[in-house]
Amino acid sequence: MKRGHAIFLGLLLTVSSVGVWAVYTVSQIRVRDLLVEKESGKLDLTAENLAAFYKPLAKNIEFLSSHSKVQQALIDSSVLPELAEELKLIANAAQDYDQIRLLDLSGRERLRINRPGNNESIVEDAALLQDKSNRDYFQFAMKLSPDEIYLSPLDLNQENGQIERPFKQVIRCAKRVFSPSGEPIGIVVTNYRDNDFLPDASARTTEPHTMLLSNDGSFLQGPDFYPKFASLVESPSPNRFGDFFPQAWQAIEGSSENGETRTARGVFLWRDITPKVDAAVDGEAMYLVALIPNETLNEGWGQQWLVGLVIPLAGVWLLIGIVAYEVVRRDEQRRLAEQQQLVASELAQQADELRRSNRELEQFAFVASHDLQEPLRKISTFGELLKTEHGREISGDAEQYLDIITDSSNRMRALIEDLLEYSCIDSQGKALSAVDSQAAFEDSLGNIAHRIDETAAEILATTSLPTVWGDSQQMTQLFQNLILNSMKYCKKKPRIRVTAVLEEGFWHFQVADNGIGIKPEYSELVFQVFKRLHTRSEYSGTGIGLAICKRIVERSGGKIWVECGEEEGSVFHFTIPCVA
Ligand code: ADP
Repeated sequence: MKRGHAIFLGLLLTVSSVGVWAVYTVSQIRVRDLLVEKESGKLDLTAENLAAFYKPLAKNIEFLSSHSKVQQALIDSSVLPELAEELKLIANAAQDYDQIRLLDLSGRERLRINRPGNNESIVEDAALLQDKSNRDYFQFAMKLSPDEIYLSPLDLNQENGQIERPFKQVIRCAKRVFSPSGEPIGIVVTNYRDNDFLPDASARTTEPHTMLLSNDGSFLQGPDFYPKFASLVESPSPNRFGDFFPQAWQAIEGSSENGETRTARGVFLWRDITPKVDAAVDGEAMYLVALIPNETLNEGWGQQWLVGLVIPLAGVWLLIGIVAYEVVRRDEQRRLAEQQQLVASELAQQADELRRSNRELEQFAFVASHDLQEPLRKISTFGELLKTEHGREISGDAEQYLDIITDSSNRMRALIEDLLEYSCIDSQGKALSAVDSQAAFEDSLGNIAHRIDETAAEILATTSLPTVWGDSQQMTQLFQNLILNSMKYCKKKPRIRVTAVLEEGFWHFQVADNGIGIKPEYSELVFQVFKRLHTRSEYSGTGIGLAICKRIVERSGGKIWVECGEEEGSVFHFTIPCVA
């Protein structure tokens, strides 16, 4: 891979990683914001419901405090029974009423209507009426101006100074009652019960959850694992919001505004829901608080991490891998092609040089053999002359020496002639063409007819021989050399069979004889120049005949080899291309 490619890929990786990371982070922050927005909306809705709940309570208490019978009853107790009947009807009509009571200025109950559950209201027995002067709602109410209404936060019901068990959650409203002449004469108090402002709060645990807090941080409503009404009942610590979430409580406590704070635990949202009905209200602070824990805020981070970062990164890496692989592969291919070209041109150069040196060698052999023949001929001619003209004067050893000289020069001439023939195969041969091998075979028999007669050899082609791609003269020479050998290396009447079959674009010839055979270990040696397996006294020859055969076959693109005959003798095989 080139340096430029590497830098480009590195930049691509870095830019894409940073880009993916940025997009992912921004989208993750947006998801969190949306979650906070959604919870905030839910909180607003709950706060609105709560405010809507308080509104009719204020209207009711206003009606009761200005009701003439209520005023009369606080002045004249004989009106009480009649008022009681009317209040019973009022209590029955509205679902959430728990109690309606009249207190005189000393805090003593003058009348109480109880509504147990949703059953018929009943008038409390006069003997069971209580003194409520020490209750905070009485004390608050006594301080109200004529138009003001007291609305309590969510509270627990108490009877005879004791918190009623099981807890009964109530909300109280109180207003002072004045005589027609404007004298304060008492207080009317209404209790409303079972106010489940956060109906699903107890079920919500790890999810974002909502809680209702009093002004001192006591849990009024919320999930079950928070102890409720800590300021009223003895509950073991931690029991208030501030104990659980000190950081968040610091931000919420005393705040009269809505807010949001992020802590190590998660995001807290709150609404100040101090009961207010127009301006004429005196209520104690209550807070509606929602917690969105970090687990929820970070939910999906893992999956999104995978989707948002790992998968795109893996994709980028894969892309880089593919590009790098492709670049490396192309580099490699180019390098290989260059190498191949180099090798091919080196080979072509070597072949050229080989051809040139072969040509030179052939020329040298040709010239040398040709020039050597002349002095040899003279030696042999003059040897013969010496013998015929001075034969009588020469005797004994001298005559024998003369014979050896003549014989050796003849033999040398034969060797040179063969060498000359061998060296001329390529240079003097004709261009390859279609050759009738049957004709070449017959020509060869004609050339050596006297030898065939001498040996009484039986030679035949068992199939008609085909047309092949070669040199006609050399084909004749090829048959001739092989048949002469078959007759020479045979101790009985020679029997020679020639066949040819077509095999994959080549004609496969066989020349089989019944001669002395060739051992397999010499099957390659016999095709080398001047290699012979016998002495001249056993069989005459120069050892070049088969080398010439090999060169002829190879010139036309074929091969030659020898095998032992099935029963006796040798089988010479050679292949010559068929005519295309
Ligand atoms: P040579 O002039 O000796 O015949 P060749 O090259 O023709 O030379 O043969 C090489 C050697 O191969 C021979 O010396 C001989 O030993 C052996 N040879 C060749 N043809 C035959 C054959 N048909 N049968 C047995 N031996 C053979």
